[in-house]
Amino acid sequence: MDSARLIESAQQHLPAALEWLRRMVQINSYTSNVAGINALGQLTAECFASMGFTAQFIPATDPQHGSHLFLSRGPLDQPAVVLVTHLDTVFPSEEEFRNNFNWQPEASRIYGPGTVDNKGGTALIWLMLRVLMDVHPALFESTTWLIAANSAEEVIGTDFADRTFELCHNTARAVLVFEGGPREGKDWHLVTSRKGRAEYRITCTGRGAHAGSSHAEGINAIVELARLLPKVAALTSPERELTVNIANIQGGTVLNRVPHEATAELEMRAFDPEALSLAGKALESMGRVTEGGAQLQIDCVGQTRAWPGGDGTQALFELWAKHADSLGIKAISMKRGGLSDANYLCQLGPTLDALGPVGGNAHCSERTSDGTKIPEYVEQSSFVPKAVLNLLALEDFLASQPNP
Ligand SMILES: [Zn+2]
Repeated sequence: MDSARLIESAQQHLPAALEWLRRMVQINSYTSNVAGINALGQLTAECFASMGFTAQFIPATDPQHGSHLFLSRGPLDQPAVVLVTHLDTVFPSEEEFRNNFNWQPEASRIYGPGTVDNKGGTALIWLMLRVLMDVHPALFESTTWLIAANSAEEVIGTDFADRTFELCHNTARAVLVFEGGPREGKDWHLVTSRKGRAEYRITCTGRGAHAGSSHAEGINAIVELARLLPKVAALTSPERELTVNIANIQGGTVLNRVPHEATAELEMRAFDPEALSLAGKALESMGRVTEGGAQLQIDCVGQTRAWPGGDGTQALFELWAKHADSLGIKAISMKRGGLSDANYLCQLGPTLDALGPVGGNAHCSERTSDGTKIPEYVEQSSFVPKAVLNLLALEDFLASQPNP
């Protein structure tokens, strides 16, 4: 495809893409706002219906979440190009109201909930496909597409990935994730690997006692747990790119009781599954009984596997980097500590992430008059180049991997 023709078409369709984005941002879609998520799902289905996409709404396993949305075009018994986005945001409607946080175009930026995370990603998918329909209708027609929109990406859960695997019969030509991608000057970040995560709870059980009359008979669960925690924190290892974060501690009741129980919650993250597993074993081996005689129970309460990258991802990245050069921009391969749907979907096929527009300050709704805090925004000017880059690279990829 000719990049000048793609740019022209993308510029022509950009106002419509931004109008869809405006309508999406106006619907509050906080993860637990089921009605909002479902309304946004309907609007998103409407947005892609004119391009011939069929919508399927699949309820999330957790009834506190809205339905996942799957939009398909072409026969799903053939491997699809999976375009991944999500419907939910981290902002309750009261917070949006309190901070006057809504659709606010301001020079090159548009501020608002989900503008980059991840309604902007959905709008970019729309723009890409709309341009492809114009410029290369044969490729658009001959490809099986599955737009997979998670209703609850901002909370941990595997059911969205499970449904995606089922719909795809466990295989995809490519998994393209439209999380926002930052830009530094001419460097555009693409994400090629994400850390895995393990979550733990430590329960320390001491012996309750009257703090005045029988202090010596007590075993203080808080003190015993507090002695352990620096050792836990010290499992962090920059060489292994492993982090341990003690996130929460609780314990005790009232002043005149030696506390019977204290708990701590923590998470560990690493790119290398081996490093994560070794750190987990080290944590679990920290013993059943503390020096002071309290019982320790250490439980793994959740795990998300890493997306280690690999050959398929590298091949995709190289195509994106090559076409970025031709557009006068530079694609940079980034590893991220944060999770995305790529962690769950990477086993479906070669995966690349951060294909959405450029933006910043995701998960932030506050604005201060001195400018030290600004809320989430998307860069309007990034939609056209990112859509064109994605299309040039995707065409190249699909040509190199003929339809099976
Ligand atoms: Zn997010």
